[in-house]
Amino acid sequence: MLAQGWMQEFRHDQVIPLTPLVRRLTAPNPGYMTGPGTNAYLVGHRQVAVIDPGVVHQEHITRLVDATGGRLRWILATHTHPDHSPAAALLAERTGAEILGHGGALHWHHDATFKPHRLLTDGDTLSTDEFTLQVLYTPGHASNHLCYLLLEEQILFAGDQVMEGTTVVIGPPDGDMGQYLSSLERLKAEPIATIAPAHGRFITNPQREFNRIITHRLQRERQVYDVLLQQGSIKITDIVRQLYTHLPEALHLPAGFSVYAHLLKLRQDGLACGKGFEGTWSLPEPGKLPSSEGS
Ligand SMILES: [Zn+2]
Repeated sequence: MLAQGWMQEFRHDQVIPLTPLVRRLTAPNPGYMTGPGTNAYLVGHRQVAVIDPGVVHQEHITRLVDATGGRLRWILATHTHPDHSPAAALLAERTGAEILGHGGALHWHHDATFKPHRLLTDGDTLSTDEFTLQVLYTPGHASNHLCYLLLEEQILFAGDQVMEGTTVVIGPPDGDMGQYLSSLERLKAEPIATIAPAHGRFITNPQREFNRIITHRLQRERQVYDVLLQQGSIKITDIVRQLYTHLPEALHLPAGFSVYAHLLKLRQDGLACGKGFEGTWSLPEPGKLPSSEGS
């Protein structure tokens, strides 16, 4: 999580060149859920795309304006969680750049201020004479989650699909574990050399990372299933207490959402029975099909 040394490396007042085409400016919103802060990536020089402008913080927005020096063409969001897209409107106002993303706010916890000028879908490309970004629709962490693949450098701007050194929260109903795992499988087939996460450093062995996450999630799913097997019926908060013994109390709620996401996937697969975040969950009764209505 918030490791020592990160605050030095992820200075919020400096644009860091990472590759010939990519620079990073980390927003000043460090925390348990955001690591050193949300990375805004600047792609290109003659015409610039900013991916995930971040939170509304005047100095951060001014730094983005200064770093793009009148050449900002596109403001891209990977998704509309409140640490990723809220700066888009102000940045567009100050630069005239076009806002692009998969769609507006879908759930109460999304950024309702995000109003894309143009919607992107899977397979779209954004090209300048310097670079091409390919749009990949990767639902799971959020239902409107996009990744952007910089073809020239094979860098995947992964948003919250992957985070450095920690596990991404999948919070139903907008988050969906089955979709999340499918999105990871899909990314494994793409020509990616480096993952640029919204939180943390570059990850340079994408295949290993995707496999690690998939394995971890399937292990967690198995553990949730085993708790149901042992306990008969149980509430999500008690599953969290059993499975996340070393997790700080502050992270029990997001962990609970991940457990909920696993339970919904197990229910979809016919391996669990129950309803709602507050409800009681169990194995399906023998000979009875599990309930699939509602969540
Ligand atoms: Zn997110």
